[in-house]
Amino acid sequence: MKYALTHAFLIDGTGDSQPNRTVLIEDGIILEIQSQPTIPEGFSEIDLAGKTLMPGLIDLHIHFAALSGDERWMQDAHFPAGRRALLAAVRAEESLLGGVTTLRDLGTEHGIAIALKEAIELGQIRGSRVVTAGSAIVMTGGHGYQMSVEADGPVELLRAIRQNLKDGADLIKICQSEGLPYPEFTMDELKTVVDECHMRGKRVAVHVETEPGMGMAVEAGIDTIEHGFNPSDQTLELMAQKGTYWVPTITINRRMRQEEHDATTYMDGVRRAFRQKGMTGADVEGKLDYLRECFLAFPERFQKGLELGVKIVTGSDGPRPAGYAGTLGIPMDSVRNEVVKFVEWGMNPMQALMAATSEAAKALDMADQIGQIAPGMVADLIVLDENPLEDIEHIDTINMVMKEGVFARGPHSR
Ligand SMILES: [Zn+2]
Repeated sequence: MKYALTHAFLIDGTGDSQPNRTVLIEDGIILEIQSQPTIPEGFSEIDLAGKTLMPGLIDLHIHFAALSGDERWMQDAHFPAGRRALLAAVRAEESLLGGVTTLRDLGTEHGIAIALKEAIELGQIRGSRVVTAGSAIVMTGGHGYQMSVEADGPVELLRAIRQNLKDGADLIKICQSEGLPYPEFTMDELKTVVDECHMRGKRVAVHVETEPGMGMAVEAGIDTIEHGFNPSDQTLELMAQKGTYWVPTITINRRMRQEEHDATTYMDGVRRAFRQKGMTGADVEGKLDYLRECFLAFPERFQKGLELGVKIVTGSDGPRPAGYAGTLGIPMDSVRNEVVKFVEWGMNPMQALMAATSEAAKALDMADQIGQIAPGMVADLIVLDENPLEDIEHIDTINMVMKEGVFARGPHSR
């Protein structure tokens, strides 16, 4: 199909906005942007007068098959793979309909995310574009070991990375710390991972909640930091200098700060997890106090990162079912909430929209294809009823969603 989207208020994703623009789309690619509509023959006009047109959103951190309901906190691994795969397929479509045109899955076992990515690319299943880390790689007994591949030392790490890439992963995800004041992988191990991935043109994402693991990961040359609650000034300065991306996933962690009931429920879950790792009594409570302190520091650390010029980008760490840590659940399209949180924590609306579009595309190493509305880019777009620059909450007024020039939601959707 060929479309002329006329009279739109255009936010191009790179920090620019223009009223009354017309965007021509042909064969899934943005052809031209016009200030006066001149619609060539064969293009269907869709009048967007009064509406806002912007690039589709990018969620850099999801887990397709995550369950993690309270009672299942550590039993995820026992949920049947087939059932998980079905859940993932449904979620891929929910995500797209919610305006997320590209997402990055950071760890789904049994090859489910890789299979889903292929099915979506072949047009067999409708869903967001998928970039996936395949199975996460952790040290033996490390964070998330129940749903990851365990590997220790350079030889096992190389083996795990190569197997994952052979299976079809687009990047590698490792875990470097949970809410504890010590790291997991050694510096040698981290460097092995970074060298091997970068040599193959692949990026590395690292789950890291606390220092000193965060500083080590940045120093080793990891590409994206996932979470990261208490980075030191030194770590943030190094991130700004090296261009390391920070995906703070506020959506999944904000309950720690604001919602007393949820925080208590969440801490109960963490307490159980620590006990299952063999910790007892005062040790567990001490670690929980430490984690609480890290969370309290989080908003201020976010602001410090902004001030220092750290590249902060959007990831929700969804989805989670209702009941997870006492919440109403985190839906597949929660990246919109992350955008709102970024503004609440100190970004201006334009910065937050860039964090979810052009900046997130850079973090994926896909900035030449997605994340902005410009000639030659893939036609991944959303149409909003209200302008999010006036009020960031308007990001929820989604009217249409287009991926690769095809409406998933809107006038010509299936
Ligand atoms: Zn995660």
